[in-house]
Amino acid sequence: MSQAFPQIPFNKPFIVGKELYNIAQSVLNGHISGNGHYTRACSEFLSNLVGGAPVIMTPSCTAALEMALLILDIQPGDEVVLPSFTFVSTANAVVLRGGIPVFCDIREDTFNLDERLLDRCITPKTKAIMPVHYAGQNCDMEAVCGLAAEHGLSVVEDAAQGVGAYDRNRHLGSMGDMACFSFHETKNIMCGEGGALVINRAELQERAEIVQEKGTNRSQFFRGQVDKYTWMEIGSSYLPSELQMAFLYAQLELLEDVTRKRGKAYLVYENGLTDLERQGKLRRPIYLGHNRPNHHMYAVLCRSLAERSELISFLKARNIHAVFHYVPLHNSPAGLKFGKTPYPLTVTEDVADRLLRLPMYYEISEAEQNRVLEGMYDFYRDR
Ligand SMILES: *Cc1c(COP(=O)(O)O)cnc(C)c1O
Repeated sequence: MSQAFPQIPFNKPFIVGKELYNIAQSVLNGHISGNGHYTRACSEFLSNLVGGAPVIMTPSCTAALEMALLILDIQPGDEVVLPSFTFVSTANAVVLRGGIPVFCDIREDTFNLDERLLDRCITPKTKAIMPVHYAGQNCDMEAVCGLAAEHGLSVVEDAAQGVGAYDRNRHLGSMGDMACFSFHETKNIMCGEGGALVINRAELQERAEIVQEKGTNRSQFFRGQVDKYTWMEIGSSYLPSELQMAFLYAQLELLEDVTRKRGKAYLVYENGLTDLERQGKLRRPIYLGHNRPNHHMYAVLCRSLAERSELISFLKARNIHAVFHYVPLHNSPAGLKFGKTPYPLTVTEDVADRLLRLPMYYEISEAEQNRVLEGMYDFYRDR
């Protein structure tokens, strides 16, 4: 069995070029803590990508989200609107400041927050909106930022999955006041654990540096702008090690190649599943026309929770690891304790029951993908 069907994991970490060489360089340079050569290189690369805004490298996207809400000075009782259909870090960042996550529903086509229902979540206590760009597809940022401007709210983009993705000619993460990227092992470009914070509103930059440097003005000191550094504000250590950034820079340099390769893998699933969609057995991903996605994931919608569970087991018996996410936050134990849900999140609950992610990683081969497709067709044959 395991001979005939070698394991196809859901995700697989990979090396594209000079990762290990760069790590050796950072050690030889004698600088492996934060803010060295490779940290600057990553930050400049990402800054160019998003159109010139300053970018602060962080140990994770989770850390970048936490930093963003510290920078915004979210206070106990402040409300922040975000989708329930997201990773827990988006909501934790709010709760860690004593804020209240207010959960909104998603659109049934893109699985991004439903901008048409957003105003139902806004009260006099609302301070910010956190759109999550699902699978590298931009939320309707014109609508989100328009509503934010109307109510005087900040916008923090959770662009964890967005590196290498564009909406028309604008890279994801360039439209909110701040935006957060992830370089976790499961993302397109990765260094095990890593992240970045984009500062699109210039007046937040100084505060961002202080928050990142344990609440001190150490960054200004290193630039020679002050002659000693001291504790200025609340902060923490949000610096990634040079070892991580050395690894990451090697991948960033090959961002276009990585995105292109994933695009090919994406097309294999997309073409391969046409017939199953035509037969009404599943739904393939929907991208609105103005997107230039980064092919972060391939997620289909099954017809029911029961069918999805059976499909996962069926594939697993063939050593193929397909997974679902997210367990909605609004009715989770912590979501009920800390959050608020102004209206029933029917699309979120339905999509969470039926969504299935197929194996997708940089090195996946066409032969492996064909085995996944064969598994899918065999499963649906008599259904
Ligand atoms: C991966 C992910 C995160 C967390 O990223 P880390 O770098 O692991 O902290 C947050 N939000 C979303 C939407 C993600 O996909």
